[in-house]
Amino acid sequence: MSKALNFIGPDEISSTVLLTALNRFLQEKNGSKMAFLDGAPPERLCQPIVDYITERGGEVHMNSPVRKINLNDDSTVKSFTIAKLDSKDKEEITADAYVSAMPVDLFKLLLPNQWKGLDTFSKLKGLNGVPVINIHLWFDKKLTDIDHLLFSRSPLLSVYADMSIACKEYEDPDKSMLELVFAPAKDWIGKSDEDIVEATMEELKKLFPSHFLGENTTKLRKYKVVKTPKSVYKAVPGCQELRPSQRSPIKNFFLAGDYTMQKYLASMEGAVLSGKLCAETIDKEYSKETNVTS
Ligand SMILES: Cc1cc2nc3c(=O)[nH]c(=O)nc-3n(C[C@H](O)[C@H](O)[C@H](O)COP(=O)(O)OP(=O)(O)OC[C@H]3O[C@@H](n4cnc5c(N)ncnc54)[C@H](O)[C@@H]3O)c2cc1C
Repeated sequence: MSKALNFIGPDEISSTVLLTALNRFLQEKNGSKMAFLDGAPPERLCQPIVDYITERGGEVHMNSPVRKINLNDDSTVKSFTIAKLDSKDKEEITADAYVSAMPVDLFKLLLPNQWKGLDTFSKLKGLNGVPVINIHLWFDKKLTDIDHLLFSRSPLLSVYADMSIACKEYEDPDKSMLELVFAPAKDWIGKSDEDIVEATMEELKKLFPSHFLGENTTKLRKYKVVKTPKSVYKAVPGCQELRPSQRSPIKNFFLAGDYTMQKYLASMEGAVLSGKLCAETIDKEYSKETNVTS
């Protein structure tokens, strides 16, 4: 569970994470249900969100990261400077309310000096992304017939699934496509893709001996290794108190992201819930202001 939930070993993880997950699994009707997105995230997850925003008059600026948070004299946000990845041309974005939904490690790099001493932001020093590696392996034969997420007993691998069965987009009746989480990845993140795949294949020989040892063995057709040196924050003991709420101490600035405080830990559900809580907070505060002014 510790490797699946936070990509670290059981000796390092805070027991809060395991107890919270178990609590959710037991208390919520579909708490332990597992499901896969039936396609690539950019098309199946992000595009519908972009459509929703643009259909209502919003704008989405792709490949244009925030480069600087500009402040007024009273330390509230004056504007965000954004710039295209492939250009030096900068653009200033102004708004009534500003939200950062960046991962905590990247947000810390953009934190204005004037904010660094504030308790909420200085605590972020203790929240640090954990390295993880995702591996996609395409085989020439079927390895499993299991339509579910599997928890590996290998010391190098975490959860994995045969996507040729579990995910419509990769459906194949004859050949397996495994997606595996390689964790803990601290000692492997700097190694070559070839070394990582070789180590993974050695582990798979132990998990599927009949397919990889002896005659007529299963062959690897192609692979893809995706390294994330800083993924979700490392949930070590004591870090729960360091997580900020969506309401920052700055009047017109708000936070979202899985590392902000919400009940679903560092997960997609957690990230979505943090966005909802952030929107609710802004809505409450700004409708209060409108009522006062009107
Ligand atoms: C290998 C792996 C497997 C996982 N498996 C699962 C799983 O099975 N189930 C699950 O629930 N969770 C899983 N997670 C965790 C899940 O992906 C995260 O909890 C979730 O994506 C966090 O969402 P977020 O919106 O907080 O951050 P992110 O998804 O990291 O989004 C932050 C966004 O900010 C953008 N950004 C960065 N810098 C800037 C900038 N300067 N300006 C503007 N934008 C910027 C980034 O491009 C990114 O799009 C997994 C994570 C990894 C790495």
